[in-house]
Amino acid sequence: MAILPILSLPHPSLRRPADHVTTFDDQLKKVVADMFETHYATPNCGALAANQLGIPWHITVIDPSENKDEPLCLINAEIIEKSEETVNVKEGCMSVPGGFYYAVERHKTIKFRYQDVDGHTHEQEADDYLSRCVQHELDHLRGVVFTDYLPPFRRKLFMQKYMRKQHR
Ligand code: ZN
Repeated sequence: MAILPILSLPHPSLRRPADHVTTFDDQLKKVVADMFETHYATPNCGALAANQLGIPWHITVIDPSENKDEPLCLINAEIIEKSEETVNVKEGCMSVPGGFYYAVERHKTIKFRYQDVDGHTHEQEADDYLSRCVQHELDHLRGVVFTDYLPPFRRKLFMQKYMRKQHR
């Protein structure tokens, strides 16, 4: 297993829509194991999408538990139902280092469908934290970063501040 470097904005991998996983083999299991190892080795990490680690596949690893003992790997995940009700909670991102947190409007509850590492299909409902987490990660896998939701003026200010911090 290996801990992989987490790529940060403006790395082009973060803008690349993920490829659908079609082969459920040992190579996939190794990639997922590396993603979990990286996730657990990173403080305050709630979840990681594959393109944050330069991996082109549609994979996200999440552990919403406090004790970090409930690994959840979502392959080819898609949201199939979402609540009208939304929440607006501050988010941060491992690919946007430097203490940038902004509120993003998300569906409060979602139902999503995904495949596990063996290719079996599952459906699950998620509320609050896990719901927001899955929406954030699925955005990554289509090339969207949470700061993209900022209004243009605030987004410009954010980028200026962010780029200044990265070059310090
Ligand atoms: Zn993120």
